[in-house]
Amino acid sequence: MAEQQVLFDEPERPEPDTPAPKPPRYTEPIPLAAPDGTVFGYACPRCWQIRSPVHAFTRVEPTAEVLAQRRNDADRCCRCYACNRALAAGSLGKCKSCRAKSEEEERPRWEAWEKAQEDDAAAFAFRLRDELKTWDADRPDPYPLTIAHGRDGLKFFAFPLELDEAPGEIAARACAMFWYDRNQGAPFGYGPTPEAALADLREKARAIQAEARASNSKG
Ligand SMILES: [Zn+2]
Ligand SMILES: [Zn+2]
Repeated sequence: MAEQQVLFDEPERPEPDTPAPKPPRYTEPIPLAAPDGTVFGYACPRCWQIRSPVHAFTRVEPTAEVLAQRRNDADRCCRCYACNRALAAGSLGKCKSCRAKSEEEERPRWEAWEKAQEDDAAAFAFRLRDELKTWDADRPDPYPLTIAHGRDGLKFFAFPLELDEAPGEIAARACAMFWYDRNQGAPFGYGPTPEAALADLREKARAIQAEARASNSKG
């Protein structure tokens, strides 16, 4: 009976509002030693974690070479991997200035990529516009036509294209949102239902055809 009561006893709680003592911050790797003083590895002086593969810690005393490697593993933890500056405990990667430097180095590549994306979107918009000039918007079953459901919360898209010519991002992949952001200038149909997307595409085709007729009669 007494044993059962123990089970339901409230566990002892620590005093509230007692701030935990701040752990000391060391500058050198922390040696991990047996009671006789034999050092078998090192912990990071900043986060105290062991970065060497711990499965390699066996009862065999490590050679000087292995020990040096373990010391080095501990020393490199919580340091910028580019310039070796010590970081806050538990931080990985690069320090702030090395991050800024690599962003600067990456910029031309990033800008070229942005430009290529914009060119692709412009080419796609041009192509759809061109298709719509001759697309029969008044036919009950216009051809070609692909209506796809965008994933990630996007609704329905209608294209004056064959299925295998429609952007793969829309129906097949999860990055439709990115495609949509990039390609909003293209005249595709869009709507909450397939019918609404088709109606939108018909509207856009009519507008493009009216515009083409107007510029033809001017020229
Ligand atoms: Zn660390
Ligand atoms: Zn750095």
